[in-house]
Amino acid sequence: MDVRTRFAPSPTGYIHVGNIRTALFAWLLAKHNNGSFILRIEDTDKNREVEGSIEHVIRCLKGLGLYYDEGPDKAGEYGPYRQSERLEVYRQWAERLIQSGRAYSDPYSKDELDEFRKQANANHQPFLYRNHRPENPPVWEYGKTPLRFKSEPKDYQWHDEVMGNLSAGKEAVDDFILIKSDGYPTYNFAHIVDDYEMKISHILRGQEFIASTPNYLNLYEALGIEQPILATPPPVLGPSGNKKLSKRDGAKDVLDYLKEGYLESTLVNFIATLGWNDGTTKELYSIEELIKSFSLDRIQKSGARFDERRLLWMNGNYIRELPIEELDKRASNYFPVEAKAYPEEYLTKVLSLVQERLKYLAEIPSLTIFFFVDLPVDPTLISNNKKLADIGNEKLKELLEEVNETLKDSDFSIGDLTNRLNNLLSVTGQPPAILFSLVRIATTQAPSSPPLAESMALIGKERTLSRLSQQIKSL
Ligand code: GLU
Repeated sequence: MDVRTRFAPSPTGYIHVGNIRTALFAWLLAKHNNGSFILRIEDTDKNREVEGSIEHVIRCLKGLGLYYDEGPDKAGEYGPYRQSERLEVYRQWAERLIQSGRAYSDPYSKDELDEFRKQANANHQPFLYRNHRPENPPVWEYGKTPLRFKSEPKDYQWHDEVMGNLSAGKEAVDDFILIKSDGYPTYNFAHIVDDYEMKISHILRGQEFIASTPNYLNLYEALGIEQPILATPPPVLGPSGNKKLSKRDGAKDVLDYLKEGYLESTLVNFIATLGWNDGTTKELYSIEELIKSFSLDRIQKSGARFDERRLLWMNGNYIRELPIEELDKRASNYFPVEAKAYPEEYLTKVLSLVQERLKYLAEIPSLTIFFFVDLPVDPTLISNNKKLADIGNEKLKELLEEVNETLKDSDFSIGDLTNRLNNLLSVTGQPPAILFSLVRIATTQAPSSPPLAESMALIGKERTLSRLSQQIKSL
């Protein structure tokens, strides 16, 4: 089978993690099968369109490396790939349905329809347009009146590759609008035509479309076309795990994650494993591994929880694995401005010291600033550290003076610093949690830092000793 999948966003705003996951699953399925992945822009609702969203979608996909084989800016055999450029195609298909007696012009005004709806409510009946089918519908005027599908209601059972066997009664089938009065098709009509014309083999989309699936099945039959395979992953849930993920849960735009220095390989791994696994407990997958092991039948039936801490953990993992030259390249835009005054090699050393603890690249300034500037003494670092605060300033001062004395004679090589610091533990009788924390604070003005001796060696003798003296003065 020639596997062709598509991502079909409507340009109605920023693209969240749930949408991009659908795109990723479709992309993985295509790549797994050496098939094609198509980007189709569903811009048939001019009122809901948000400027810039098409460019945004494209940047997100490319930013994650989800390149499409055909799309609005990538010519293919079945274009155009923007629905607003395909109006003539839908019109021809609509004419065919009129000719076969399966579509008719909707003669009712909005008020009349509202009245039908009210009646149905009053009778505690679901409103079905087909109960009000006009006997002699007027001739359809394209661009003036809506065109409706003339359904043939029946019960349906169908298979969904993710959700299994689904069914619905005939009340789920109605005469829906095919072409609106503005001449644009509805999603319900356009996607069926396009999936067929673009030879789409699998439809992956959100569960909001399950309720309408009986209508789609009815339309496939009316058009005499075969329905593609359906796969409908459940939504991504917010951190609480009981409702759909929303912006309010802190889920950011994909581009924001990229801007903050989450690696594309992390994002792809994270998003793919939101509700999918390969049957083992493996969590870290390269993109190649994902392509190799992806299959629809391992997409979970229940919603997957979006857990940003897992994303951080994963990104930290990927950053740790990067060769230093690669990290160097990626980090270059993230250093604080003060780093400009330092040579390349110094920046590389700083990076290799923080690589172990870096979770995303936008953290670089806060984790490295003390390598570039002498920060003023921050007294809260001591007062917030219970162990140090309990000792009292006099004693802390004495300890630091001792440290200062010993380090004066050091050559500030990592080895010598390590020896001297360890020696100080026995000489002063203080545990590392006190002595090293104190020295760390004095040297970095940060509550935590990379290994102490390494950091001091890089900061250098003169600067380190002057920082120690400054702290002593302040105590
Ligand atoms: N345009 C639809 C949406 O953005 C796409 C649904 C589909 O993938 O068929 O929700």
